Amino acid sequence: MKILVVNCGSSSLKYQLFDMNGEQVLAKGIVERIGIDGVLVHQKGEGDKVKIPNNIPNHKVAIELVINTLTDKELGVLQDITEIEAVGHRVVHGGEAFSQSVLIDDSVMATLNKCIELAPLHNPPNIMGIEACAQVLPGVKQVAVFDTAFHQTMPKKSFIYSLPYEAYEKYSIRRYGFHGTSHKYVAQQAANLLGKDLKDLKIITCHLGNGASITAIDGGKSVDTSMGFTPLEGLTMGTRCGDIDPAIVFYLMKKMDLDFDGINDYLNKKSGVLGISGVSSDFRDIESAAAEGNERAQLALDVFIHKVKKYIGAYTAVLGGVDAIVFTAGLGENSPETREAVLKGFEYLGLEIDTEKNKVRGKAVNFSKEGSKVQALVIPTNEELMIARDTQAIVKK
Ligand code: ADP
Repeated sequence: MKILVVNCGSSSLKYQLFDMNGEQVLAKGIVERIGIDGVLVHQKGEGDKVKIPNNIPNHKVAIELVINTLTDKELGVLQDITEIEAVGHRVVHGGEAFSQSVLIDDSVMATLNKCIELAPLHNPPNIMGIEACAQVLPGVKQVAVFDTAFHQTMPKKSFIYSLPYEAYEKYSIRRYGFHGTSHKYVAQQAANLLGKDLKDLKIITCHLGNGASITAIDGGKSVDTSMGFTPLEGLTMGTRCGDIDPAIVFYLMKKMDLDFDGINDYLNKKSGVLGISGVSSDFRDIESAAAEGNERAQLALDVFIHKVKKYIGAYTAVLGGVDAIVFTAGLGENSPETREAVLKGFEYLGLEIDTEKNKVRGKAVNFSKEGSKVQALVIPTNEELMIARDTQAIVKK
């Protein structure tokens, strides 16, 4: 079965074409600058990336271009578009309506439209992508895979905020959590690597990228997660502030004469490690600045690591112990220094890390010492593969 995985942003569209026989990526790429001018960067198998500038006014034209490229004699990997049996879409917000991936029909589309209110920046382009595929690939089954779905197993005590209950009942304000596809995928892979059944494990998954979140997973189910009503809550991120005293919002609005858009921008785009360091939102830049003696860059790293530690400690308590701590995403997969710094101090749990085994980038590894009571793992995330797997399972039903 060949499955196309699509992830639409407001001006971009990422795609991967899978042959599920062997879970192979046949081709992948990204269309960028949709609605501005447009460029497609396409890669066939492990071949070189090819850049194709084009006039791309909207997502429908972007999908048409992707399909034309996938069926192109030279760049393509398909004889005919009918070889695409299903399309899997990443959808950011499924609200409380979706606790798993679903086959898309009219009623699902109606519910997705209702969820726009909860994710005004992310859901509209996701919906545009679904509509574009329906037009360009008529009759092909489409599946929605939600960032929020995995966290729908959280108990009420984890997802209710300490606000008047009407905030939940009237306005759907609650913790939803994000990066669910990634947390679910790496938890399953961790169980595989440990040779254990996921049902028997208490796992803390740390998705540390530009956006970052941590999840407590008990027996394969998310029981708490650090992102909340929006992805702004929780850890210090590239440019997002994470947890702060909510009173700071009103104080800053007054002091800096900011309106709603102004404060939104300040907390989402100017804060995090970028805001603290004044150097960059990219951890590589911050790590090199810190190594050269930049104190605020070092402070940004210290604050970030302190927050990650706090969540691991809290989630160990929530889970009543922990069997494995998993690191994934850009920083989690590629920074041995960050992993070591985060785990320093958890020796009291019986965690012992092997610093030699930890010297790995982008590869799955158990870097705890033989006999360590808690396992420390690196598991590269693969949200696209997870989307393809879910799509295949649903379409086969
Ligand atoms: P997102 O998908 O949220 O944009 P990623 O998971 O791609 O983020 O992670 C991006 C982050 O990972 C960047 O801050 C980048 O600096 C960091 N990163 C990637 N490679 C390395 C590395 N070798 N060392 C340290 N940080 C890295």
